[in-house]
Amino acid sequence: MSQKIVTRFAPSPTGYLHIGGARTALFNWLFARGHGGTFLLRIEDTDRARSTPEATAAILKGLEWLGLDYDGEVVSQFERVPRHAEVAREMLARGAAYKCFSTQEEIEAFREKAKAEGTSQLFRSPWRDADPSTYPDAPYVIRLKAPREGATVVHDKVQGDVTVRNDQLDDMVCLRSDGTPTYMLAVVVDDHDMGVTHVIRGDDHLVNAARQMQIYLAMGWDVPVYAHIPLIHGPDGKKLSKRHGAVGLEQYQAMGYPAAGMRNYLARLGWSHGDDEFFTDEQAKSWFELEGIGRSPARLDFKKLENICGRHMAVADDDALMPQVAGYLEAAELPALTETQAKGLRAAMPYIKASAKTFPQLIEKAHFALVQRPVDVDEKAAKQLDPVSRGILKELTPRLQNASWTREDLEAIVKQVAEEKDLGLGKLASPLRAALAGRSVTPGVFDMMYVLGREETLARVNDQAA
Ligand code: GLU
Repeated sequence: MSQKIVTRFAPSPTGYLHIGGARTALFNWLFARGHGGTFLLRIEDTDRARSTPEATAAILKGLEWLGLDYDGEVVSQFERVPRHAEVAREMLARGAAYKCFSTQEEIEAFREKAKAEGTSQLFRSPWRDADPSTYPDAPYVIRLKAPREGATVVHDKVQGDVTVRNDQLDDMVCLRSDGTPTYMLAVVVDDHDMGVTHVIRGDDHLVNAARQMQIYLAMGWDVPVYAHIPLIHGPDGKKLSKRHGAVGLEQYQAMGYPAAGMRNYLARLGWSHGDDEFFTDEQAKSWFELEGIGRSPARLDFKKLENICGRHMAVADDDALMPQVAGYLEAAELPALTETQAKGLRAAMPYIKASAKTFPQLIEKAHFALVQRPVDVDEKAAKQLDPVSRGILKELTPRLQNASWTREDLEAIVKQVAEEKDLGLGKLASPLRAALAGRSVTPGVFDMMYVLGREETLARVNDQAA
């Protein structure tokens, strides 16, 4: 491909970053990154009443968490209003648009009449071909002089050719009478000026594409490649809504899904590369093509998400997981780890990450490394610490004192003591587990001993030995 690919994500900052929006951003990012292109971010904040700085902040934060880096500065659509107005005037000058002086009342009256007569209610402005010498000194809007014959065909990479008859479209307003641009004009001008070559977005914008194309054609600009992706549906197959819970991206961070797993899962939500379910970012970038996007809505499947996340957690770098855990705790509004706890978690990481799918699960598995002496013993674990077991623990301590501290040696020592006492390994492992973690379900006993180290292990065993 000779043309440099430029994609963009263009969210409206009117609420949280929707999971569907996050996937749209991801597709644009993958496509650009995989083709040596550029991925831009534009905040569509022209709707002043509904746009908030908090929503913009949430979008930026969400993208950062998901690891979707964009190129250059964030573009504010609102700041480009003068440019939008300039293009509307250029369209006028080119004869591709006209001043329309019809008042709201006149437009209403037109519609009422059409309704009564059973004709098309699409407004047909009497000013379309009016002689400028007849223009009144009154407020006007600038309307596109849209073609009335033929059809506008959107060659969509996902939906195929979508044909809209031109007599089904009215002469849309591009500039309002107060000089502000309409959304339709703003999007086209921005995409053109930003050099966007590929517009990948939700298929709720498919109808807009035909209208937007008319503006490109009116200005003689190159129309971008369109790819309108089907929306995400809830697990029940219905359109994703608040009723399904977890529609905002930040909720996923707060639920403790690792971002790498989230990227992988979201990529698979509506896009496929053969049967590949689990892949790295590098693979996704090199595989991602618009042809791989499916035409039917994808369904959210939390089980799949968890499984993919688990696989990413298992292969993640131990050090890299640490700040992610901190990010999760913050997002979930949980207390941060102390320095000692962070050290404990880091030491435990190699032994626990393979069996955790989410950060809450990871923290749960790291419990033994996060608690301090004296370790609280829960009811179930306490049952393992009967007087006989406590006696055995006491006998174990001198042996541990002299052990070389490898997992293998530790296991050999405990096995040996079990044999000497003619006990099953479990009879020793259970009280040991209870003494070390205060719980009955934990990572492997020898892993815990190894992670805790000689001194701490002995201290915890001694706390319970009698
Ligand atoms: N601002 C629009 C939205 O958030 C997206 C517009 C576009 O991608 O063209 O739905």
